[in-house]
Order: sequence, then structure tokens, then C-alpha cells
Amino acid sequence: MSFTDGFRPPAREPTPEEVGVRGGSKACGGCTLCCKVLGIGPNGKAPGVLCPHAAPGSGCGVHDHRPEVCATYQCAWTWAEPLDPSWRPDRAGFLINPRPDPAEVEVVVDPDQPDAWRREPYASQIKRWSDPRTVSIARVLVRTNGRVMVLFPETEIDLGLPNQPNFRVESGYEMRDGRMQPFARFTSLFGATPSFSLTGPRP
Ligand code: SF4
Ligand code: SF4
Repeated sequence: MSFTDGFRPPAREPTPEEVGVRGGSKACGGCTLCCKVLGIGPNGKAPGVLCPHAAPGSGCGVHDHRPEVCATYQCAWTWAEPLDPSWRPDRAGFLINPRPDPAEVEVVVDPDQPDAWRREPYASQIKRWSDPRTVSIARVLVRTNGRVMVLFPETEIDLGLPNQPNFRVESGYEMRDGRMQPFARFTSLFGATPSFSLTGPRP
């Protein structure tokens, strides 16, 4: 099983019963983790704090009037078929946030359980996604309390806090000290403007 096999949009529109809080091929059910870990910008709630309308275990308390950005957001679990029910974000303690670059995987962790992604079966699978020899994923980012870490099969590089919400990361291998070693760094967006307002954690 590879994660990329599951990275495709739902083949059809979900039925209302499947939609749950938001939508996708899997129902959100009572999960509200995105209502906590993501910010609704620029004037909405901050990342890392639970939205006052969220009712963990039952969903959104203003479901019929929720902001459009909430109604359209889907974390990757809802449509990535290989991710079984144990990966539902409220059970896992993190969500997988779609990035503008589809070759990136971004794991956004509940700040109240920052090591949730290091538990099994999650840690081994997430590490496998970071291995360019096994999957066609360019990089795996883990965001905890706004900090960005880039995973490699052999190490982790903590980049700290990005200086803008829609950051970009460059990573790969470069020759240093006579051998190929992993690198990761923030890069400029070259003036690009945010294309959506539901963002990952910001500093
Ligand atoms: S984190 Fe994913 S599964 Fe949970 S409520 Fe948000 S979109 Fe639904
Ligand atoms: S308005 Fe509803 S869906 Fe949006 S963040 Fe708050 S609880 Fe979640």
C-alpha cells in the first residue's frame, strides 16, 4: 500500500449521509481536529485553539451556517482510500493537510499531543512516505505548534517557524563534507499571494 495510491479526489460526490461535518469519501463523524489545529484566516480563529463552535464527538455546532472555507475543507484522510479508520484525525492526533504542491505531505499535529505522529502504526508509514526510493512524494512536513520539520528516512530537520503562512520548502540531498547529505530550507514565494484562507498553524 502506498499513500500516493490514495491521493486522488473522490470519484463521485458524497451523499449527505457520508458528508458528516464536511465531506469526502469518508465521513468526518464526530472529528473536529481541523477545527482546532488549522487557522481560519485572516480574521477568523487562530490555529491551535479549538473553534468555539466545535463540539468534539459530534461536529460543528453551526453546521448549516459554517464559513464556506470550513464547508469545502477536506483533510486527506477523508479521500485517501488506503488510510483506514485508525487514521481519522481525532483518533490519530494529527491530520494530513493537502498542500498546494500535491507532491508534499503535511502532517499537522494536535499541539496537545505533539508526539502523536511518532506512535505506531503512524510513524513507520509516515517515514516510508519520506523515502524517495519507495514513493513519488517530494517531501514530508510535520508541523507542530507552528514549527516545520522535514522528514528523511535517516533523519529529521527542524526548520523552526516559517515567516509567512503560505511558506514553501526546498529539500533534498546535496554534497557536503564529501558525501550526499539531506538538506531542507524555506524558500521565497516570489510575491505569490495566498490562494486560500484555511491555513496550517502560523507562528
Ligand atoms: S480533520 Fe478531517 S476528518 Fe476531521 S473534521 Fe476535519 S476534515 Fe473531517
Ligand atoms: S465553524 Fe464549525 S466547521 Fe468551522 S472551524 Fe468552527 S466548528 Fe469547525
